[in-house]
Amino acid sequence: MAKRISGELLRKLRNDIPIDILIARVLKIPSKYSEGYFRFLCPVCNEFNTATKKETNLARCFRCNKNFNPIDIVMTYYNKNFLDTVKFLMPIFAYFNKVS
Ligand SMILES: [Zn+2]
Repeated sequence: MAKRISGELLRKLRNDIPIDILIARVLKIPSKYSEGYFRFLCPVCNEFNTATKKETNLARCFRCNKNFNPIDIVMTYYNKNFLDTVKFLMPIFAYFNKVS
């Protein structure tokens, strides 16, 4: 019964949903700009020792030494499994695909 999720779709979910907008506007994780970097409250350690990288669309926590792509951050923040995370991200991806 499991629906297969293509690698192409996963690549798009990871790359085409801007990580900082996902964090600040969709997940509403506390975030701020400091020293020119977008910083968010790490969902693992609850510290602001974080940044995001536009080129890779990754969010990083320097304290946990962990990178989050859009799928990872949703899984971690909501404690959702992989399939539920993909379902959650689909309409968000569709929205960004339309506006960009
Ligand atoms: Zn952390």
